[in-house]
Formats: sequence, structure tokens, C-alpha cells
Amino acid sequence: MSPDSQPELFDTNPPPGPVRGAEGVMVREIRCKSLLNRGGIGDYSFNGYVGCQNGCGYCYARFMQRFHPHAEEWGRFVDVKVNAVEVLGRQLRRLEPGEVFACSACDGWQPVEAEYRLTRECCRLLVQAGFRLNVLTKSKLVLRDLDVFTGHSVCVGVTITTPDESWARVWEPHASSVSDRWEVLRQAKAAGLKTAVMFGPLLPEISDTDEALSDLFARAAEVGVDRIWTDMLNARPRVWPGIQDVLRTHGPHMYEQYRRLLFDPSFRRQYQRQLAERIRTAAKDAGVSDRLN
Ligand code: SF4
Repeated sequence: MSPDSQPELFDTNPPPGPVRGAEGVMVREIRCKSLLNRGGIGDYSFNGYVGCQNGCGYCYARFMQRFHPHAEEWGRFVDVKVNAVEVLGRQLRRLEPGEVFACSACDGWQPVEAEYRLTRECCRLLVQAGFRLNVLTKSKLVLRDLDVFTGHSVCVGVTITTPDESWARVWEPHASSVSDRWEVLRQAKAAGLKTAVMFGPLLPEISDTDEALSDLFARAAEVGVDRIWTDMLNARPRVWPGIQDVLRTHGPHMYEQYRRLLFDPSFRRQYQRQLAERIRTAAKDAGVSDRLN
């Protein structure tokens, strides 16, 4: 997801429609008025869902709750835009093809997508209409849709925040394993698609070390990924409480460093410089500095 995205228009708020619980997540069906948004990364972005079951501790999309309050915590609700495909079809009649980012404020391939298939069908409409797609996900479910992407201008990207499976489970409790995400890139490449990986947010003392960065970049080189993005941990609205929750249980000794990184500008500037240097070194050692974006 992109932190720059803005919420779409909805018929009502809070959402109506059938409500049910699924594995502790409240799933509600809602209707949207528009799906494709202008701006963000690329010309457009879209989200078939409000909320994200992956429940990442550092998630920047938590700001959505400001515009669409829910009683449940972030990660514990998903609103499904059941008319997303129909609305997109109408919008596409009026728009010039461009570049679309999927998805900007949720993971379009989060578990609920296995049932609703909204992201898949929206992607199908978009590529058939000549739009270029940039996909970013933490879910191996995206492999289901390689048949939709193949033969079109689609870049399949995954986000990987750490090479360590245990830490990934802590920070991204309901996303696919790290090894499954690398597998997504391998299969997308084998299908002839462009691939990208986002290393971010790089987590202090977990994935910002020389050892972790070297592991991440060496793996990117081995897979032959086409584009590599990196990002440090950023102080976005509503992010700190989620990070605190994780650190209280799993890393109280790191609390102070995370706090300073988010709230102490001079510490942050120095950290940013040092991290950028370590990233450059790791990319150079792995022979992939030309693919850094
Ligand atoms: S995958 Fe994680 S970071 Fe991305 S929108 Fe979902 S909860 Fe947020």
C-alpha cells in the first residue's frame, strides 16, 4: 500500500450491509461510488477493500480509520466493496489508459480476496483496457492471477521487511511467509512478467543491519528481480501505537531506538544517512545497485 493514497467515496459511513465474523475479522459488504483514484504512485490506484487482514504492526494505511471509523482495531475488519468491478467498468469508459498501482491502502490479495476475487477482476478489466499495472502485495494469493497478468504490461511486486521468518510473523501476522513472497517473484519472472521488491519499512535492529541487508539484496540478485525499492520506518499518522504494541511484547529493549527514530529529527537524519550508506553497500556487493529505485 502507499502512504500517499486518499480514501475513496462511499455511499455511507459507517458501512451498511451483511456483517459477519471470519477468524476474528469482521467482514462487511459495502458499495462504493468510485474505485479508481488519481495520483499516488503512478497515474491511478484502486482498493477493493477498506482495511487489511494482514494487520502489520507498522501499517501506514491505519490513517484510513480517521475517515472510516470502525469499532474493531486495524487488522480486525475488512469492508468489501462488492460493486467494485461494476463501478470500475463504468469509470473505464471515460478514462485514458495509464499506470495503475494495486493496491494503495490495503493488500489487494489479503485472505478475503480468495473468496471475493475483486482485485483479480479489477486487474482483468484494467489490463484489457490497456492500463499498465504495478502490483504490490505480501500474499502468495497473487499467483492465482498470473493468468490475468500474462501478456500484459504488469510488474508484480512483493514487500519484504525482513529476511527473518519469525520477525515477519511478529510484524505481519497474517501475511504470507517470506519464502512464499520470494516464490511469487520467481513464478512471476518465469511467466515473463517484470518483478519488483520493496524492502520496507526496514526495521531498526531487525532488518537494517549489514547482515540482514546483505541477505535481502543477495536474494534479490539470485531471483533476478528487476526493480528494488527501499524505505525506512516513517512516522505516519496512527503508526506509533501499533509499533508500541509489537515492541512491548517482542522487543522492549528496542523501544527507545524506535521512539527516537520516529520523533527525534536529528537522530532520524543521522540514521537515514547511515542506513542509505549500508543499503548502497549491500546492493553493490550483491551486484544489483543498478536496479535500486
Ligand atoms: S499489507 Fe500490511 S502494511 Fe500493507 S496495507 Fe495491509 S496491513 Fe497495511
